[in-house]
Amino acid sequence: MDAQTCLKKLEYVGVLAFATVDKNGAPQIRNISAIHYEPDRMIFFTAKGKNFCEELLADGRVQVLGYTKYKEMIRMSAKAVPVTENEQEKWISIIFAEQPYLSNVYPGDTRKLAGIVFEIRDAEIEYFNLGVNPIFRESYTIGMKNLMKKGYVILDKCIGCGKCLKNCPQQCIEPGKSYHIQQNHCLHCGNCFAVCPANAIEKRG
Ligand code: SF4
Ligand code: SF4
Repeated sequence: MDAQTCLKKLEYVGVLAFATVDKNGAPQIRNISAIHYEPDRMIFFTAKGKNFCEELLADGRVQVLGYTKYKEMIRMSAKAVPVTENEQEKWISIIFAEQPYLSNVYPGDTRKLAGIVFEIRDAEIEYFNLGVNPIFRESYTIGMKNLMKKGYVILDKCIGCGKCLKNCPQQCIEPGKSYHIQQNHCLHCGNCFAVCPANAIEKRG
């Protein structure tokens, strides 16, 4: 798996959930399908008058979520910015050609007056597959975004008692002088953290 494959999978899903935070700090989520995909970025259309647009212009941070029928979750934590003024019309034409229903929503020149196109060039992408055994997760970046460290790690003060492994639903902890979590198979459920008698497990992120 890699970032490009994740973008491809999101394209197959088609309708994605886009989450922002409004001016009162409340979460707002909506489905967007007016999206064009490039191998390393995502370009999408919305209307200038919508709160979604206002929230993107004010802050730019957005989470985009897609879920496949194979139980794969793909989440992008990203920054969205408008494409340049002289590229707006080009991308509107491309998105409308790929998504014919949009011409019903914004016929003729109404799309130019109402519409604005944003792009996501910088994003962290989390891939989480609950349909395989053991479960599988991995993170990637596109553009300049850094990976956020999440989940749990076992520190050197581990005393090797084995309680974490015994209570791990995915059995993704390896014994050793210090035990070790296989990060790609970890659910981030916190069971190991809850039972460790030596406080040797740290939550990250
Ligand atoms: S967080 Fe859950 S899945 Fe991950 S290692 Fe700990 S017990 Fe196992
Ligand atoms: S429960 Fe804590 S001390 Fe025991 S093996 Fe796991 S990490 Fe080490």
